[in-house]
Amino acid sequence: EWIDLTEVLQNAIENISLRAKEKKIEIRVEVEPNIPSLYADGLRMEQVIFNLLDNAIRYTERGSISIKLNIVDENMQLVVVDTGIGISADELPYIFERFYRVEKSRSREHGGSGLGLAIVKLLVELQGGTIDVTSKPEEGTLFLIWFSNNQLSNGYQEDIT
Ligand code: ATP
Ligand code: MG
Repeated sequence: EWIDLTEVLQNAIENISLRAKEKKIEIRVEVEPNIPSLYADGLRMEQVIFNLLDNAIRYTERGSISIKLNIVDENMQLVVVDTGIGISADELPYIFERFYRVEKSRSREHGGSGLGLAIVKLLVELQGGTIDVTSKPEEGTLFLIWFSNNQLSNGYQEDIT
């Protein structure tokens, strides 16, 4: 289906806004005007964004979270960035694995099962997208999702059935 990712974004934020408020963390949204529709599943995308926000809030003690939606080189770019505890370089390669949790002792007090990001990656890739992460301990984490031009309503869609 053709979806308006801006709307999906708003729904995910609404669903998590209470938790953000409880931790006094602001969620900023920066959406470029005239974003085309995306050929993807709205509920799955809502789950993706919700899981990323869930982490961003859980692993951030102060500061803010930003969600950005942009078109870059005709492709769609969705960014979720936080100012949280970050992830060390040697643990970063494993965070998308099922049940993997960074620094078990510290993570345990945050709760969670280690499935959130495995689900995120699966859902993004099932829908033709890619996901990447960069992070710096004590500074924050940035997740970057790409959907290519042939999945956009203004793009080259010959290969979509
Ligand atoms: P859940 O299944 O409830 O989501 P979880 O949050 O522990 O549990 P994932 O979402 O898969 O599991 O994340 C895996 C691990 O990656 C987390 O345990 C945490 O250590 C680390 N992590 C994920 N997102 C962030 C983030 N935004 N900042 C810092 N660490 C993160
Ligand atoms: Mg999680």
